[in-house]
Amino acid sequence: MSTLPASARRYSAWSLLRARYAGPGYWRPLWSGRNLQPAYDVVIVGAGGHGLATAFHLVRDHGLRRVAVLEKRLVGYGNVGRNTTIVRSNYLLPENHYFYEDALRRWETLSRELNYNVMYSPRGVLDLALTNDDFPALARRGNALRLAGIDAELLDLPALERFAPELEPRRKRRFPIVGALLQRRGGTVRHDAVAWGYARAASALGVDIIEDCEVTGVRAAGGAATGVETTRGHVQAEQIVFATAGHTGTIGTMLETALPIETHLLQAMVSEPIKPLLNSVVVYVSPGHGETYICQSDRGGLVMGGHLDGFPSYTREGAWHRLEDVVRGALELFPRIGGVKILRHWAGTNDMTMDGSPIMDRLRYDNVFVNAGWCYGGFKAIPASGAAFAQFVATGTAPELIRPFRLSRFATGHLLDETGQGPFPVRL
Ligand SMILES: Cc1cc2nc3c(=O)[nH]c(=O)nc-3n(C[C@H](O)[C@H](O)[C@H](O)COP(=O)(O)OP(=O)(O)OC[C@H]3O[C@@H](n4cnc5c(N)ncnc54)[C@H](O)[C@@H]3O)c2cc1C
Repeated sequence: MSTLPASARRYSAWSLLRARYAGPGYWRPLWSGRNLQPAYDVVIVGAGGHGLATAFHLVRDHGLRRVAVLEKRLVGYGNVGRNTTIVRSNYLLPENHYFYEDALRRWETLSRELNYNVMYSPRGVLDLALTNDDFPALARRGNALRLAGIDAELLDLPALERFAPELEPRRKRRFPIVGALLQRRGGTVRHDAVAWGYARAASALGVDIIEDCEVTGVRAAGGAATGVETTRGHVQAEQIVFATAGHTGTIGTMLETALPIETHLLQAMVSEPIKPLLNSVVVYVSPGHGETYICQSDRGGLVMGGHLDGFPSYTREGAWHRLEDVVRGALELFPRIGGVKILRHWAGTNDMTMDGSPIMDRLRYDNVFVNAGWCYGGFKAIPASGAAFAQFVATGTAPELIRPFRLSRFATGHLLDETGQGPFPVRL
């Protein structure tokens, strides 16, 4: 049963018919466009997935009333609208696999919860082994997941052929497929629908979503933050949450606190639509061309990506060498897509931590919170992060699920080294 007010419960075939016959005036904006108020209980900086989900849970689950999300550009302009939509929970380390499993369970029901179709598609995520060394590393990860009660299946070639015949696993290749690790419940979720769904639901619960409003500084007095400076003037806040993904480094500068984060570019690309070719999400590291991952969108485009461009940048322009690597990697798997054209490629700015795991903690003041360091994998985390982070902000105590992601781990050396595992450096 939806907990949203009646105004937000209006997504049905009937409403589409009414829209068709009632004319253009029928459609209303998905979120409010309310005016910025001088003071709030909680100001959230960044209308990406994490900021919007946190706002939604703060109001729905904890009853906060005066909450604003301030966004310097547009809802969904950041990485939430630039990612390749992969969701899964097959991380190696327990801290990560329990957290991402919580997220995956929430994806399964999110469309109902938001009353907005986020198009969760559990089509299966396959990590391919292309060398004899990759296979034991995948087996180890699969065993760790099964111990934790998370679905993981190690596939030999006949099993892989049954699950994904389109991969032609026994085909002669320069780097032949040895086997795969499969998570059947993994798959994709429509990325911009997630931003719109959360924005709409939060707005219906009274959250002010303010676009074109950049936060430029934090005001503090007596050892606590008192508000933020913005391009639209000063805003008082009891609590401040930064969920600014690739811009977290600039937030650290604002608060005169060095963060163990570097901003790097990750790019992705999509081909022209073609007939159905691939039913799952496929990830592999080719000894020849590095990381490649590929899936097919509902429109038929092949969505592909690879590793970081390899140098810190805020430009959001991908470099050609990475595009070439990814396309070569894709051709190694599917030589028959040789004639297919790339329609678009783009990049996003990723907040990379040195251990590949996120940071969810306070920052400098007791009433300032940072939700960051999502690297290349923060899209899939959104529903879990939103719920847990809202609880942290509302109660002042971090729930068990996110306690391992504290900032102090970088000082004490208790790193959650998810990047260090086996041959799979990229964790999308
Ligand atoms: C090409 C690519 C592919 C990816 N693929 C996947 C994938 O398949 N699966 C997966 O799980 N993850 C993936 N990711 C990572 C994922 O997209 C991010 O980790 C996640 O979206 C980051 O969280 P967010 O949605 O809150 O960030 P964002 O959407 O980037 O939100 C942050 C917002 O903060 C705003 N902001 C910044 N500074 C300020 C300021 N001073 N004032 C006001 N607003 C500000 C920005 O404009 C932005 O809208 C991918 C990323 C990229 C770039």
